[in-house]
Amino acid sequence: MKCEDADLLMMKYIDGEITSQEAEKLNQHLLACKKCKESFLVYEGMLCEMNDMLQVETPEGFECAIMAKIQALPQVKAIYSTRDKVKLWVAGTFAILLSIGAILISYRDAIIFSLAKSQHFGVYMQNLLPLVVRVEAQTENVINTFNTAIGRVEQTLSASAGFIVTGIVVLCVVQLALVMRRNR
Ligand SMILES: [Zn+2]
Repeated sequence: MKCEDADLLMMKYIDGEITSQEAEKLNQHLLACKKCKESFLVYEGMLCEMNDMLQVETPEGFECAIMAKIQALPQVKAIYSTRDKVKLWVAGTFAILLSIGAILISYRDAIIFSLAKSQHFGVYMQNLLPLVVRVEAQTENVINTFNTAIGRVEQTLSASAGFIVTGIVVLCVVQLALVMRRNR
């Protein structure tokens, strides 16, 4: 079948005048011809939208019968495959966590100071540490605790895991760039 013939059959399909024999022929051509398959998918999408807009009732079973014939068509490739979605998710989450971590480490003193001195959080802290009465001393205490914890993390990172973390970040960024480029 020529592409022009396939085009005619597609028009017949849209008008609802295609026979199942013709649908079979069209199906055969669509399986072999990428260009016509793409046109068909566009037509099919337009047909669905038109039906939705006009609320046109197609004859009972008509579309199912035709679509059953055309089911042999390979499915339209999703824009993002599941694997790519997972990769994007991992890279995105990692980037967000890393940013938050960087911000927290850079501004830890300012953040902890403002938190401990703010009315609500300050009261909350007081309840957490009933032994420390003075707010100043309490603030100092909290900062020391945080600093010790962050200091340990920093030590560990700079000692050995720093290389690994940097490697993972670079991998994530490269991965993300590859995924973005492939799906453009
Ligand atoms: Zn064709």
